[in-house]
Amino acid sequence: MTNVLVYFSIVAILGLFIDRLFLCLWLATVALLMIHYWQLFRLNRWLWHSKKMTPPKAKGLWGHIYDGVYFLQRRNRNKRKELGMLVRRFREGSEALPDAAVVVDADACIVWCNRLARIELGLRWPADIGRRIDNLIRHPDFIRFFQGGHYENPIEVISPANDQKILEYRVMPYGDKHLLLIARDVTRVTQMDQMRKDFVANVSHELRTPLTVVTGYLEMLSGDEEYPPFFIGKAYDEMSSQTRRMQSLIEQLLILSRIEASSEPVYEKIVDVPTLLKTIEVEAATLNQAKHHKINFDIDPNLTAFGVETELRSAFSNLIFNAVHYTPDGGEINVRWQLDGTQAHFSVQDNGDGIPQKHLTRITERFYRVDKARSRKTGGSGLGLSIVKHVLNHHNSKLEIKSTVGEGSTFSFAFSEELTMANKTITETGLA
Ligand code: ADP
Repeated sequence: MTNVLVYFSIVAILGLFIDRLFLCLWLATVALLMIHYWQLFRLNRWLWHSKKMTPPKAKGLWGHIYDGVYFLQRRNRNKRKELGMLVRRFREGSEALPDAAVVVDADACIVWCNRLARIELGLRWPADIGRRIDNLIRHPDFIRFFQGGHYENPIEVISPANDQKILEYRVMPYGDKHLLLIARDVTRVTQMDQMRKDFVANVSHELRTPLTVVTGYLEMLSGDEEYPPFFIGKAYDEMSSQTRRMQSLIEQLLILSRIEASSEPVYEKIVDVPTLLKTIEVEAATLNQAKHHKINFDIDPNLTAFGVETELRSAFSNLIFNAVHYTPDGGEINVRWQLDGTQAHFSVQDNGDGIPQKHLTRITERFYRVDKARSRKTGGSGLGLSIVKHVLNHHNSKLEIKSTVGEGSTFSFAFSEELTMANKTITETGLA
């Protein structure tokens, strides 16, 4: 301001001196306007057309204006950079989430979703931006939950992308009337829960039947009535057999839970499988006294394996005793433990009735029995093959079952090369 006053004062004095005051003032005003117009022109060119970040050089007031604009621009750019980083970090974070996440606005339209939401919920990006979420996830339970507006408790619904999966949906209000929808795959948890319920129901059922028999006899015998000795004998036999059944069931359950929880390392101890099979052979012979099968053992005496001895004993004996139990009298059973290529191979082959194909996929489930009545008669709990499956799982192997109705069945498995200890005596390895 002072500069302008000084400028016009000088011009006025000059004008008075040459007696042309108004002409001088007019010329001075035009010159000042042109200077300012020129600076405005430079500012405009710098703001909109120049690629240079630094402002044009200027003195005085225009210098201050340029510096101010430059400072504001820099502050703005830094803020934008920070904001961009923040958004990027948020996106990276939500992409790393183990759950599907979708943000919807107040009208339930999709604003944003992560990668898992595209996979688990079948959303398309960016095609589905702005589309209502309840038009894309069409399950009636989800629509009822979403539109109901009560989000305190999550719901479980079949996945829209895969009907074998169950998703748990949670909705959280956030920001400006926005909602964050989180979908988590809970298929395994639901299955486990169902398995636990089935398991409890099965165990209770299996124990209730023999208990009912024993209680029935005890009630009868505790009365005043006299019973003939043959009846007492029958009652005694029946009660003993049912008690044995309960005992065996509980033992099998304990074995199963021990194997399931087992963290015993498989690669630390070598199991002398040939000797183990010798003891099982003796036990099988005792069991076979009533069945008169021809049982052949074809065992490689030098073939040992890394493993957990108690577990392997359970697996081998379950498969061998099953063959003895389920093959009609006078059958033939071949037990084989030999090296095939680089892997130790175990198999039990019988010429029994065989198992219909439809049962084969379920036969290793707990309590699953092909013929309940027959299996109970043999004292079977339906846990044997389940134990075998778990043992083999622990030893990184898998049970193979081949069976033809009327011809017989073969149960087999192989040990990987790392577990197989061919032609080495236990003392040779130094691990005994
Ligand atoms: P269980 O304790 O009842 O024997 P498993 O789990 O060992 O239970 O076996 C499940 C079912 O598989 C048995 O009930 C039986 O019906 C069938 N099974 C097992 N092994 C044989 C076999 N060698 N031949 C025919 N059926 C068999």
